[in-house]
Amino acid sequence: MAAFEGKSVLVLGGSRGIGAAIVRRFAADGAAVTFTYAGSREAAEQLAAETGSTAAQTDSADRDAVIARVRDSGPLDVLVVNSGFAVLGDPLEQDPDAIDRLFRVNVHAPYHASVEAARQMPEGGRIIVIGSVNGDRMPIAGMASYAVSKSALQGMARGLARDFGPRGITINVVQPGPIDTDANPADGPMKDLMHSFMAIKRHGRPEEVAGMVAWLAGPEAGFVTGAMHTIDGAFGA
Ligand code: NDP
Repeated sequence: MAAFEGKSVLVLGGSRGIGAAIVRRFAADGAAVTFTYAGSREAAEQLAAETGSTAAQTDSADRDAVIARVRDSGPLDVLVVNSGFAVLGDPLEQDPDAIDRLFRVNVHAPYHASVEAARQMPEGGRIIVIGSVNGDRMPIAGMASYAVSKSALQGMARGLARDFGPRGITINVVQPGPIDTDANPADGPMKDLMHSFMAIKRHGRPEEVAGMVAWLAGPEAGFVTGAMHTIDGAFGA
């Protein structure tokens, strides 16, 4: 039997990049997967057709829409919150509305989605949030708002682990380093700087992150909660 046969999985932000690899992994392992997207309808529809999963448009910046999506998904065995982005640049020049939107997507959505999922989640349910090694280490200027948002997920996981632990529900943060996606291509202008911080001098692959997510969602990880799991080629070491 496939590892996640009969399991219900929701991935927030699954149309591209790391999220798409997570959708592919759970679908290949037999789960019934629903994933959300904001703007990439074509990519979402292609991925749904390829994997037999269900795509649903839900903007993670819209709190009430996120809560409704999670609630209407019914009891979830696994929630993965992957949607997230960075706003790069001089903080003195940045539009405060853009920064507030970043906090809505990167912090508010993971919090409200996790709480809403826990209402219906069965014993043994799993919540996995995609943070970043930048929650631990931010060696580059112009990304403070992103670092704030990813550090916030650490406190969220530590706290909610206490709230949900008595029901056997775990919550963990996966913290990637540079991963080859549209947001951070392996041949992008920052590659040499990023690789200079690393012991393994390459971008990671989305599938490598999906493998860690699948382990955290699986039966061997029932005692792992409130923890950060870094997969970064030693970017943060
Ligand atoms: P991409 O930009 O390649 O993909 C982002 C995915 O999230 C897309 O499917 C996108 O959907 C979805 N998404 C973005 N905003 C929203 C929104 N408002 N509502 C719903 N879905 C949304 O990013 P990555 O795959 O690189 O990153 C995924 C996660 O991993 C993020 O949280 C990021 O911070 C984190 N991360 C990435 C690293 C990297 O180097 N790539 C390193 C460390 C962490 P759509 O296109 O439809 O908007």
